[in-house]
Amino acid sequence: MDLNLDSMAANAASAGGAQEEAVKVLIIGSGPAGLSAALYAARADLEPVILTGMELGGQVSLTFSVENYPGFPEGIGGMELVELFQKQAERFGARLEYDLAGEVDFSERPYKVLTQNGKRYLAESVIISTGASAIHLNVPGENEFTGRGVSYCATCDGWFFKDKEVMVVGGGDSAIEEGLFLTRYADNVTIVHRRDELRAGAILEERAKSNPKIKFAWNTIVEEISGNGAVQKVKLKDTQTGDQREEEIDGVFIFIGHKPNTSLFTDQLEMDKNGYLVVDNRMQTNIPGVFAAGEVADPHFRQVITSAGMGAAAAIQANHFLEENPLDNK
Ligand code: NAP
Repeated sequence: MDLNLDSMAANAASAGGAQEEAVKVLIIGSGPAGLSAALYAARADLEPVILTGMELGGQVSLTFSVENYPGFPEGIGGMELVELFQKQAERFGARLEYDLAGEVDFSERPYKVLTQNGKRYLAESVIISTGASAIHLNVPGENEFTGRGVSYCATCDGWFFKDKEVMVVGGGDSAIEEGLFLTRYADNVTIVHRRDELRAGAILEERAKSNPKIKFAWNTIVEEISGNGAVQKVKLKDTQTGDQREEEIDGVFIFIGHKPNTSLFTDQLEMDKNGYLVVDNRMQTNIPGVFAAGEVADPHFRQVITSAGMGAAAAIQANHFLEENPLDNK
C-alpha cells in the first residue's frame, strides 16, 4: 500500500473531504480516447468513471473546426464534438467527474487513484488517456491568438490558410512534415528555425528544400506575435546577430515538440525515451489491467479518429480483462 496515497487521503479526511469509491473501470482523461473508452465501457455495463482533468475534451476542444472526423461532412466544432462524445457516453451510464488524478498506486489491485479533490478510487482496471500537450513558445501574443492564427495542428487548421502566408516554427520532423502539408493551402510557408540545420530526417529535408512554396528563416526565433483580432505580424530575432525585424503573416504554426502527460506514472508504467506510455497492440501497459489510449501512448498519428479508436480498443480489452481476472472480494 502506498504511504503517500494514504497520507494524502488522511489529510483530505481531516479536512472533511475523504471519500472512497470502488469502480470497475476508472478512465483518466476526457479527450477523444477517454470519452470513446467511456462509451464502450458503459455499453459493456462497466459503469465507468471518467476523471476529466483540467480540460474536458483535451486538445480537440481547442480546435475551431474538425473536418476530418467521419460522419460530419460539413465539419464540426471541436468543443461541439466533445459534447456529443460526452452525451453519448453518459447515455449508457458513464459518469464524468470534474476532477484530476493527483497520485496513482498500481502496485496491487484494486489500483488506487487519489484525486485533487481528495477522493480515493479503488479501480479494478484503469484506462489512461491523459493525452499530450504541444510545447508552447511562451512568447507574448501566443496564447491570445491561439485559434486566431496561432495553431499547433496543421491537419486541423491548414484549410483556413488557403492562399495565405504562414510561418512554421521548429526544425524537427513535425515542423517539416506539417510545413509540407500546409503548402497544399498556403501560398508561402516560411520555416523559422533557431539553428542553421534541421533536426528533421534527410528525406523530409530534401522534400522541403525542393518545394517552391517553402522558404527558410535560419537562425531565427519568434519573439512576439501580434495582430488585431487575428494574427497580422511577428517579431523575429536573428540568433547570430541579435538583429530584430517584423514580418507580416497570417498564421503561425508551432511545432517544437509534444510532451505526453505522463509524469503521474513515473516509476510505475513503462515509457519510451520521450515519455510516451508503452502499450502492446491491445492497449495493455506493463501493468495488467492498466491500459493506455490516445496521444499519451501515440507519438505518431495524433488524430481524433485514431485516439477514439485506441480508446474503444482499450475499453474492449478492459472488459475482457475484468471477465478473466475477477477480484477475490467481488
Ligand atoms: P523534435 O524532434 O523534438 O523537434 C523539435 C524542434 O523544435 C527542433 O528543431 C527544436 O530545435 C525546435 N525547438 C524546440 N524548442 C524550441 C523553442 N523553444 N524555440 C524554437 N524552436 C524550438 O519534435 P518533433 O518534430 O515533434 O518530433 C518528435 C518525435 O516524433 C521525433 O522523434 C520525430 O522524429 C518523430 N516524428 C516523426 C515523424 C516522421 O517520421 N514522419 C513525423 C513527426 C514526428 P533544435 O533542433 O535546435 O533542438
